[in-house]
Amino acid sequence: MSDKIIIAIDGFSSCGKSTLAKALAAQLEYVFIDTGAMYRAIALYFLRNHISFQDEKAIANALLHIQLHFEHNPNTLKSDMFLNGENVELRIREMQVSSKVSEVAAIPAVRDFAVAQQQVMGQHKGIVMDGRDIGTVVFPQAELKIFVTADPAIRANRRFKELQATDPTISMEAVAENLAHRDHIDSTREHSPLKQAEDAMVLDNSHLDRAAQFEIALNWAKERIVSAS
Ligand code: C5P
Repeated sequence: MSDKIIIAIDGFSSCGKSTLAKALAAQLEYVFIDTGAMYRAIALYFLRNHISFQDEKAIANALLHIQLHFEHNPNTLKSDMFLNGENVELRIREMQVSSKVSEVAAIPAVRDFAVAQQQVMGQHKGIVMDGRDIGTVVFPQAELKIFVTADPAIRANRRFKELQATDPTISMEAVAENLAHRDHIDSTREHSPLKQAEDAMVLDNSHLDRAAQFEIALNWAKERIVSAS
């Protein structure tokens, strides 16, 4: 019998982390958790309720009123993010949320709130979690850490195509700007900034298709599962 491991996938915005994490989880029959969706749902709550990002008291109080959970969607075969019982999967991907989420995710109380829940989700292992601080902060003991990276222009182009499907008015410039803005805030914030864990395997997928990068990552996972058994 093989033991289950924790797979932590970190990297810059729109590197295809979630796609890779989802495929690995499906193949290994592990749970997939998109931690970015959690920060996006918190940001949506703050925006809707006009919570000032500087007001520590209001933030602490708001967090007491936020309940997050994922639910399997049989139509898309993906997990949808629920905020206080409402399916917000589509709303949290809109530019209004994307443009503010990194500021919200830089707030220490918000990170503590989200990280505590993520650690509970992974306590029985058998999980693939993607984000920015999974291998460094959430699960520093993860058996496999993957740091995904890709050329910024290629990332912007991929994201643009994705967003264009639901919002034909979106411009390439706005998408590229948003990615650069989020990368900057994520890498320079004081509390658990985005950085490569020392023991992470680097996966630059600028010139790899989904199948090729999946193959590489799956081989790494199989190796680690064997050594964990
Ligand atoms: O992964 P995604 O791009 O959806 O994440 C949205 C935002 O949430 C990121 O730009 C980042 O600011 C924040 N985030 C984070 N830590 C994580 C996951 C996401 O700070 N573990």
